[in-house]
This record gives sequence, C-alpha cells and structure tokens, in this order.
Amino acid sequence: MPLNLSTTSKITWCPGCPNSQILVALRQTLTRMVEANKLKIENVVACVGIGCHGKISDYINVNSFTSLHGRVIPSMTGIKSANPNLTVIGMSGDGDSYSEGLEHLVHAARRNSDIKLFIHDNQVFALTTGQTSAASPRGHVSKTTPLGSIEDPIDPFGILLSAGATFAARSYAGEITETSKIMEQAINHKGFAFVEIIQPCITYFDTRDYFKERIFWRGGPASSPEEAIKLAKIENNRVPLGVFYQADKPTFEELLR
Ligand code: SF4
Repeated sequence: MPLNLSTTSKITWCPGCPNSQILVALRQTLTRMVEANKLKIENVVACVGIGCHGKISDYINVNSFTSLHGRVIPSMTGIKSANPNLTVIGMSGDGDSYSEGLEHLVHAARRNSDIKLFIHDNQVFALTTGQTSAASPRGHVSKTTPLGSIEDPIDPFGILLSAGATFAARSYAGEITETSKIMEQAINHKGFAFVEIIQPCITYFDTRDYFKERIFWRGGPASSPEEAIKLAKIENNRVPLGVFYQADKPTFEELLR
C-alpha cells in the first residue's frame, strides 16, 4: 500500500505560509526514505515545540510528541535514549529554540545526541503575533521593540559548532527539493544534526523578497568547525545555504550504553 503521510486536520497556517513548503519537503523526504527501505515509518517520531512550526505534527501522519515551549530537545533526547531504534526528528522555531530553549540546543550539540532538528527560522515569535525574537535583525520593529531592536541577532552556527555539533546546515523553505535532500542527509547522519530552514513569516515579517535576492548555495562541508562557522556566516548581504559541516563522533546514546 502506498505510504500516505497526509492527515485530515485542517491546515490553519496563514494561506501561503512557507511552513507548508517545509511540510512538503518533510513528507517527500520520509516517503522517499521509506520507499528506499532506508527508514521504517513506524520508527519515526516527530517532536515539535510551541510556535507556528508546531502545527506540522497535526499535518503529518507519523508518531508525534508536542512539548512545552523551548523543551522539544529534552523530549527528543529522552525518547532516543529510551529507544535508540527510533528515528527522532524535531521541528522547532527561532522563538522556541534560539530564544526560549537555547540551553537545550547547546547541550544537545555538546553531547552529540543522535537527534535531528529542523529549525523553522522566521526571525519572530510568529504564533503570538510577531514579537522580536533572538533571531530578529538589529532595528527590528515589533510590539516588543516599538523603537527598533537594539540587539544583534544570535549566531546559532557559531554557538553550536563551537559546542560540538557534528552536522550543521542551512536551507530556505522555498527551495523544497534542496531542503528535502538536506533533511535526508541530516536523518542519515549519526549524531546531532542541526538544520536551520529560513521560513519567512508572510504575516508579521515578510522577508521573501529580501532573501530571494540574497540566498546562494555554498560548497561544503568544511573540514573543521572553525571553517564551517565561516562558511555559514551571513555577511555582505549574502546568505549562504548548504551543508557546512559533517563529522563522525560517538553519540550520547552509544556512550550511555
Ligand atoms: Fe506562517 Fe507567520 Fe502565519 Fe505563523 S503567523 S502561520 S509563521 S505566516
């Protein structure tokens, strides 16, 4: 019987929200991997945090778990530690994991926990109507920073690669085929895989035109975390995409046993 990953839940994302493109990429990835016998669908667990991204678990027909705000990573680590045969995929947002739950992200990278994390980065707290997040650019005007943010945005690649992440990549939601390929690489990776997916929030911070002009695919992966941090760096108004780093290291779950 062909694999059907759709559900009957009504999609409540804003019409045209690029979260739907990430959903398509994820369904394509899982379908392709299951059909190629690389994955058993009953062994997949999709974990989500709180934010617009979190609705994705309603729209994909796999085992799922919804965590508290910022707590998707401890849930994933617990699931993977209890049953290492599971493929634990997490979806989170910049509000959920760069702002609220950053400490968990750093420790998952440091431990090399064998979990795969896809960050839907829309640079705002979209679900709660667009407040400034740790990923918002300096000068960003929102309800929480009406005069413009005075902070620089977080550099997750600098932080996570310094902490020990063994897979780090960036993609763009509109690039569905490439996003799906990177998702497959992340799922196949043994260890902590971090993929930032730029996902403009078309209602509260519409950056589609901004990114369309600036994204480009960059060669990689680099041979060291230091080099990878440089590859991932957004500078001179250019936003690199691609797999910046991949390395082999014992995982937390292997060492636990
Ligand atoms: Fe998408 Fe933004 Fe609407 Fe949330 S608020 S569903 S991120 S467009």
